[in-house]
Amino acid sequence: MADVTETQILEALKEIRDPDRGSDIVTLGMVSGLQVRDGHVAFAVEVDAKRGPQLEGLRKQAEGVVHRLPGVLSATVVLTAERPAEAAGGASGPAPGAARPPAAMLLPEIGAIVAIASGKGGVGKSTTAANLALALHAGGFATGVLDADIYGPSIPRMLGISARPTTTDDNKLEPMENYGIKCMSMGFLVDEETPMVWRGPMVGMALEQMMRDVNWGALDILVVDMPPGTGDAQLTMAQRVPLAGAVIVSTPQDISLVDARKGLNMFRKVDVPVLGIVENMSYFVCPHCGTRSEIFDHGGARREADRLEVDFLGEIPLDMAIRETSDSGHPIVVSDPEGDHAKAYLKIARTIGAKIAQAREAGAASRPRIVVE
Ligand code: ADP
Repeated sequence: MADVTETQILEALKEIRDPDRGSDIVTLGMVSGLQVRDGHVAFAVEVDAKRGPQLEGLRKQAEGVVHRLPGVLSATVVLTAERPAEAAGGASGPAPGAARPPAAMLLPEIGAIVAIASGKGGVGKSTTAANLALALHAGGFATGVLDADIYGPSIPRMLGISARPTTTDDNKLEPMENYGIKCMSMGFLVDEETPMVWRGPMVGMALEQMMRDVNWGALDILVVDMPPGTGDAQLTMAQRVPLAGAVIVSTPQDISLVDARKGLNMFRKVDVPVLGIVENMSYFVCPHCGTRSEIFDHGGARREADRLEVDFLGEIPLDMAIRETSDSGHPIVVSDPEGDHAKAYLKIARTIGAKIAQAREAGAASRPRIVVE
């Protein structure tokens, strides 16, 4: 089937009229960020922040029109604010420090959503997220991974998934699955080579929608590989996604820890519990002579965890096998489950699992902050 073109999409969207402004959404210049990839279409409809809630129907209509075009497998449309309403805090939700919106409704079948975050890129956040998801699965949790790292969506590759998700008749996306883990990624919708120009508020909305419109089924834990850093996008996500907790990944040296600290403070500000810090690339053992070297220093994350009064979850060494296995789609937890590296991830996963169970019990006893039933 021939690929659908941007022109065809825009032509079809001219059918949709803005009820208040008397013309169609294309002529009014409301369609932005159009992305088409292998039949998966995503774009934003820019609306005035105040009208957002009334325009859900328009959003659905736009999705329907595009989904019906030949060659379209999925259509993801988000409403995004043209400009944030002044005092209201804009489309990115409440200001830092304000209470989070209630977690209800979104993902009622998911027990707990855990964010894996880092202050900056390249510290091994995605590698840790993939291996921890596999370790949680090995520990008996029904687990999924949502790859929200829009800057470098690498989870599908790490989990050995190359096919694309399909949609059901009601325009829901079926998550991909490998090694028993369900997986959905921004990378399925957006080409890895395409620079992402989506603005902060839109990222949160796109993500929320990816959770709402994906058939995750019943999961105990959904691991979210967060975008690195502490920009608008991350903050919006921390506020919009009903997170049960966050795990911060850092390398041992100071420079990385400064960033990790910022990440941690961001979660604290928006009232997301920090489950702990993982030190990645913690040390190196020479495969030839067995000498241990501390390439990026050692122990910094543990000291930082103590200082910030959060738990230190464990150390993962810098090792060729970890890189080769995750980059080739056979992460170490599945390719060498009895090895020391896998054991380190399994231990961290056990701690995370226990903390979530504890939080759920405490939540059930006081205020249910995750999803109880
Ligand atoms: P991030 O998500 O923080 O950007 P990635 O998980 O993509 O980082 O990792 C960046 C690179 O470092 C990848 O090639 C990955 O395989 C490698 N890597 C991550 N952790 C380790 C480790 N403990 N030992 C060796 N290589 C690692």
